[in-house]
Amino acid sequence: MDTPRRGNIHSVESLAALDGKGIRYEVFFMGCPFRCAYCHNPDTWEGEGAMHPTAEELAVKIARYKPYFGKEGGVTLSGGEVLTQSAFACELIDLLHEKGINVALDTCGGAPLSGEVKRTLSSADMIILDLKFYDENGYKRYCRGDFNAVMNTLGFLEERDAYVWIRTVVVPGINDSEEEIAKYAEIVKKYSCVKRWQLLAFHTMGFAKYEKMGIPNPLEGTPALSKDRLEQLQRFADERLGEL
Ligand code: SF4
Repeated sequence: MDTPRRGNIHSVESLAALDGKGIRYEVFFMGCPFRCAYCHNPDTWEGEGAMHPTAEELAVKIARYKPYFGKEGGVTLSGGEVLTQSAFACELIDLLHEKGINVALDTCGGAPLSGEVKRTLSSADMIILDLKFYDENGYKRYCRGDFNAVMNTLGFLEERDAYVWIRTVVVPGINDSEEEIAKYAEIVKKYSCVKRWQLLAFHTMGFAKYEKMGIPNPLEGTPALSKDRLEQLQRFADERLGEL
């Protein structure tokens, strides 16, 4: 008999409300190809997580929470980067669907579009895609990531007519101006699959992890983005999408 595949999971959060619609059960995957300067989860980048369940074990555990999900809630797969374990993620999504649970997949979009990655992206009910920067330079400089891979992912989602939310973290001194946000808007407006573009405020809650892990924090000394400025920029972003 084949040994069942096991996931490498950093942690789970049973009743979250930030990543997707309604009440969500969040599963944080280990592994990430990017190294974003503002990452608040550097402890998910590599190595072994706290849990190594089979997809079946995890699906059974999650299903106990189904009564709390209501009409809109469900499961959000996040990380780290879910698509570093796409076979496990795909198996888990299929099992959750069998149990009538909807699944959002939160991704940086940096994984090469293999058949398995495409199948996983196509299986999820909703994709939350980070658009971290609007060009190759931003991705290289601040994420050690591949802008073209992200654009390929977005193109694939458009072709599939997926249901997509885009998110962008706004960091003081890096992309917190109207000029910067306007450049993202020019990309976002081109994709009809995008149903929402949400700006997120950079915060400093992850700083302690860098210290604890003994790794350099590239944004040490950078302040959090204020709520007022975030709201201003979100209004500007919404207006740009309306105008463009
Ligand atoms: S993609 Fe996400 S988990 Fe990976 S480094 Fe960037 S912010 Fe961190």
